[in-house]
Amino acid sequence: MSDLEVIIGLEVHAQMSTKTKMFCGCDNDAFGKQPNTTVCPICMGHPGTLPVPNATAIEKAIKASLAIGCSINLSNHFDRKHYFYPDLPMGFQISQYDFPLSSKGAVTYDMFDTSGNVTESKECGITRLHMENDAGKLTHKGSTTLCDYNRAGTPLMEIVTEPDLRSADEAVAFAQELRRILIAVKASEADMFKGMMRFDASISLREKGTEKLNPRSEIKNLNSFKSLERALQYEEKRLRKHWDTDGPLPGDITVGWIDDEGKTKMLRDKETADDYRYFPEPDIPPLEFDQKEIDVIAASLPKLPRELKDEYISLGLDEKQALQLIDQSTLQTMFEAIRSKTDAKRASSLVLTQLLGFLNAAEKEVAEGPDADAMLELVGKIDDGTISSNAGKDVLQKMVETGKNASTIIEAEGMQQISDDGAIEDLVQQAIDANPKAIEDYKGGNEKALGAIVGFVMKESKGQANPGKVNEILKKKI
Ligand SMILES: [Zn+2]
Repeated sequence: MSDLEVIIGLEVHAQMSTKTKMFCGCDNDAFGKQPNTTVCPICMGHPGTLPVPNATAIEKAIKASLAIGCSINLSNHFDRKHYFYPDLPMGFQISQYDFPLSSKGAVTYDMFDTSGNVTESKECGITRLHMENDAGKLTHKGSTTLCDYNRAGTPLMEIVTEPDLRSADEAVAFAQELRRILIAVKASEADMFKGMMRFDASISLREKGTEKLNPRSEIKNLNSFKSLERALQYEEKRLRKHWDTDGPLPGDITVGWIDDEGKTKMLRDKETADDYRYFPEPDIPPLEFDQKEIDVIAASLPKLPRELKDEYISLGLDEKQALQLIDQSTLQTMFEAIRSKTDAKRASSLVLTQLLGFLNAAEKEVAEGPDADAMLELVGKIDDGTISSNAGKDVLQKMVETGKNASTIIEAEGMQQISDDGAIEDLVQQAIDANPKAIEDYKGGNEKALGAIVGFVMKESKGQANPGKVNEILKKKI
């Protein structure tokens, strides 16, 4: 049996986060809306209508291009891609064919072991990024098919990779890094649950040491990292079996992934570009950019996830903590807000250890817990001495459990730290009176003897006396 190598390339469709659709003014957020309510004659392809490109979508696609290292093609244009299917009201998709928005980039991504440590950094070449509009959504019910065109016209970026990925694990790790980048530059929300990021994965085998690419099997429309992984693993096994008896596939094929059954199903022989009869979109003038415009957009890019991860690690966070923040924007916002008031270690302990711990215990999602402002209020209460940092943990636990804010909980539970000099003086005096032996020992040179006095005060005050104040007053008194 020959030693085989797996060759994988991806086509990634990511929905751009714009208010309106790619070529009309319709609401781009169709999630949860009644079918066919966010449509107009343009996205329904009525005769005589004219598409107008969405400037925000183009800017977002440029940002995404730059973030994945692609060069912008200063002259590019839209093309019509024809196919007839009920999800496509125009009878063609407006896409980009031979002159895409950008090309020739690369994304560096990390491979992790099971405990979340980086084992290796790899690079996947990016062939191109182009813009297009999405099709509608079909729901098959028995022998009928329901058509919802709310999604028709949604702006998409299609990102095509080089065949640089060598396993399902690598494909998933790359796709996750790509998702982080698109979110970081605000080009896409890439919410997998809402279908905002979908993959077509091409896989083929070849003998190790050879360079030739064999015909591939393209798995269409994978909409989660799990299905991407499972589909590629399944198809690899199937292709290996095929190789044992018949060698490589005789020609390119297209398959679908049946998630419930955990297997792929032959859809058709792959279409070629000829089948789509591409030609330049006559209703939209070619796009011409000035390098200066591109430079301005490049200068506005935020820190990319890898830079941010390195920064977090330099602040003392570990790899896993850094990724937790990068992958969950709510936690990241909270961490950044707290970090601006205090140090990174404390911010990560509050957010990633305490808050996540209490959320887990209460079986709640991050979105159900306190937000950045509520966390800042808690930090403020600790820092101004209202409560001790120990009491802060109890308050945070109650914030998670009840959804109330810090000051309400502190007040209701009488958790205020006693910082009032008079009250502490009384307590200290009581402690001195009750522990003459400790005072004697201290005066005799045993510094540790004061611990008993402080302990007495803390016990009497039910832990609410400010320990700093107790020490200060005690030393003054003896
Ligand atoms: Zn429309």
